[in-house]
This record gives sequence, structure tokens and C-alpha cells, in this order.
Amino acid sequence: MILKSINGKRLVLKIGDITEEDTEGIVNAANSSLMGGGGVDGAIHRKGGPVILEECKKIRETVYKDGLPPGKAVATSGGNLKAKYVIHTVGPICRSEKMTERNKEVLKEAYKNSLLTASELGIRSISFPSISTGAYGCSVEEASKIALETVIDFLKRDNVLEEVRFVLFTKDTYEIYKKSLNEILKNED
Ligand code: ADP
Repeated sequence: MILKSINGKRLVLKIGDITEEDTEGIVNAANSSLMGGGGVDGAIHRKGGPVILEECKKIRETVYKDGLPPGKAVATSGGNLKAKYVIHTVGPICRSEKMTERNKEVLKEAYKNSLLTASELGIRSISFPSISTGAYGCSVEEASKIALETVIDFLKRDNVLEEVRFVLFTKDTYEIYKKSLNEILKNED
């Protein structure tokens, strides 16, 4: 585990299963349908139980009739999870090795809007998975830099969140996030 202090707030990198986290919120790398799926999305719905899907269906019937657009975020309760809230966001789909500028922008928005949603709910701690680097195929090297830069930038300005965790599913992903974080913090001094 790595713990860094950013503007007096905690930034944590760890290996783990996000559905086990005890932060007040956890972020779901969902798809636009909000009807569940594979990867982290499937794991969250399985462990959280049917309440999450019921709330997602209500969101589809009201605010997001055509689905949640990539880069946006929306909250439901956490059902049976330890987390009180699940914040669903949709990352970009990468079709080539290098991320396009548009996809970088969408990924940044996905992190930013998840953080804003958390802050609006008064959540003090939140966990993120590595959005878009599973089924959505983006490179962990590139995605990790955007993820970390966006979170660090937010923590410098926000006064609600006290802790942000990146809960990475594999050691390889964790190592790449660790390397990106060290590079970002080195460039800051
Ligand atoms: P996307 O469609 O946004 O790429 P995926 O769920 O396919 O989302 O993958 C995103 C990342 O989440 C991948 O790095 C994957 O290994 C990871 N992941 C899958 N299950 C879990 C879990 N239970 N906890 C944390 N991370 C997970």
C-alpha cells in the first residue's frame, strides 16, 4: 500500500477488490446502460444486491433515458456493500494502443464528475477502480496518469473529501499506478 498526503488529504494506492472497501463511496466503471455488466460492474451488483439495479433503472426512466453518457457520473445507494453509495461512471472505450485526445478528455471527466458527485453528497472517503483499463481496453500507463492527475488536482481544491483510494485488482496494475504517481509527484517539486 502507498499513502501520500495531498493538501492534507490522503491518497492511497492498494491492491484489492473494491467491493470490500469501507470507504463511504465506491466508484463503478459502468457502461452507459447502467444495467450491470462484467468486470468490476458485475462484482459490485453481485455483492451489493438488487437495490443498486433498481435505482439504476429509476435513473434510466427519469434523468438518463438514453443511458449515462461517457464522462458523466450518477450515485445510487450501496445496497449490501460496506460503502453507503456507489457512484457509477462511464469511461471511454479505447480501440487502439494509444489513447486519443478525446478519450483522455472523457476519462478525465469520468474521474472529475465522480469526485464532484461524492463531494456534493458530503462523502469524505471514496475508492476508485482503474476505469476503462479492463474490457474498455485503454492502456494502464496512460489511463493511470490521467486518473492520478485528475484526483490530485481535485484534492488540492476540494474541502469535503478526506481520502481517495485507488483499489487495483492486480499487482501489475498497482505497479504501473505506483510508477505514474511517483513521476507526477516528482515533477511537482
Ligand atoms: P472497463 O469496462 O471500464 O474497462 P472493467 O471492469 O472491465 O471496466 O475493468 C476496469 C478495471 O477494474 C480493470 O483493471 C479490472 O482488472 C478491474 N477490476 C475488475 N474487478 C474488480 C474488483 N472487484 N475490484 C477492483 N477492480 C476490479
